[in-house]
Amino acid sequence: MPTKVFIGRDCLKQEEECLEQLGKKAIIVTGKTSGRKSGALGDVVEIMQRRGIDYCIFDKVENNPSIENVMEGGAFAREEKADFVIGIGGGSPLDAAKAIAVLAVNDMDAEGLYSCNYDKVPIPIAAIPTTAGTGSEVTPTSVLTYRAVESKKSFTTEWVFPKYAFLDATYTMNLPKEVTVNTAIDALSHAIEGYLSLKSSITTDYIALESIRIFGECIDNLLLDKMDFDIRQKLLYSSMLAGIVIAHTGTTIVHSMGYSLTYFKDVPHGRANALLLPEYLRFNYCVADKKIDRILQELNMKNIDDFENLINELVKNDKIYTRDEIEKFAGIAIKARNVINNPRKVTLEDEIKILENSLCKA
Ligand code: NAP
Ligand code: FE
Repeated sequence: MPTKVFIGRDCLKQEEECLEQLGKKAIIVTGKTSGRKSGALGDVVEIMQRRGIDYCIFDKVENNPSIENVMEGGAFAREEKADFVIGIGGGSPLDAAKAIAVLAVNDMDAEGLYSCNYDKVPIPIAAIPTTAGTGSEVTPTSVLTYRAVESKKSFTTEWVFPKYAFLDATYTMNLPKEVTVNTAIDALSHAIEGYLSLKSSITTDYIALESIRIFGECIDNLLLDKMDFDIRQKLLYSSMLAGIVIAHTGTTIVHSMGYSLTYFKDVPHGRANALLLPEYLRFNYCVADKKIDRILQELNMKNIDDFENLINELVKNDKIYTRDEIEKFAGIAIKARNVINNPRKVTLEDEIKILENSLCKA
């Protein structure tokens, strides 16, 4: 994992000279509000000015950024002749930063971007997460909303591993409760899916279990909404560890099925995963019972029913979906690349069943 990670309060200011090494002009990529609300944008601008580094700001990143959205950012980066990117935000701005790093020096369409075959080496990236969930600051993946496939589609290339990541929970202190919970479960989902993935290894297993264990220590605080700096820093660390895991293993079917919920129903990414996790564990239990028992043990839970109760306490599941919708979601999700990583072989019918059990009234 080639990203150099700095962790802790004020780590950005303490290590600010790193940014100078990345280039002469930065494009700062952030969401409409997250850069400002987190305080990270103000800190970065201050550093740019203090160090005399030229910069421009692209603060139009949408949630679940679309191809069109990153194309706009890419054109802006080319126009401004930026030679490095600073991504500030949740997974959406961080993933957009990766696409913009490619497009800053390669004027290409969506298929070109997804090909990962670029004429010029993407410009370097520094990542400052303001949510504790996606781990995008340590992954070589960018997930984009792509209308052509009626879903989200990712590209993965070593070139977009951020060079530096700065993990300071100060920037997550203002997160609303719902975003805190959703993103925390996204991280948990990465650790669980990575741990159960056919691509897992003893190294990623070790890291995944540590991530799950730390999430376990935060459960009471999440339930009670008692989120101080230390708990938020733990969640940020746990999310980064889970990011390292999926950088190696990829995700499995929870993520690809969740993409349909986000694409068609605007369900936030982490919440979409949360709704599917209990049934995913039940589905895989017959081939991965030892590993699933270990996950439950790290979370201090007796069985999958306990786990489901926790998820239901953390996120609302109104079970409003129809059989027709479920079939459409599954039809798209079964084509995703990560299906083959799942420990148990998955068919279209299996995905329909998992979605139905998770999302439809009994
Ligand atoms: P997000 O879409 O980046 O942000 C969710 C919401 O939280 C936005 O409204 C955002 O505001 C707000 N927000 C962010 N930081 C804040 C702060 N500190 N204070 C107040 N509000 C804040 O959510 P996310 O769950 O972190 O990222 C989801 C995206 O990441 C999805 O597209 C998902 O597919 C992707 N993802 C990527 C990877 C990977 O490996 N690359 C892994 C998992 C998920 P703004 O709109 O103003 O930004
Ligand atoms: Fe995710």
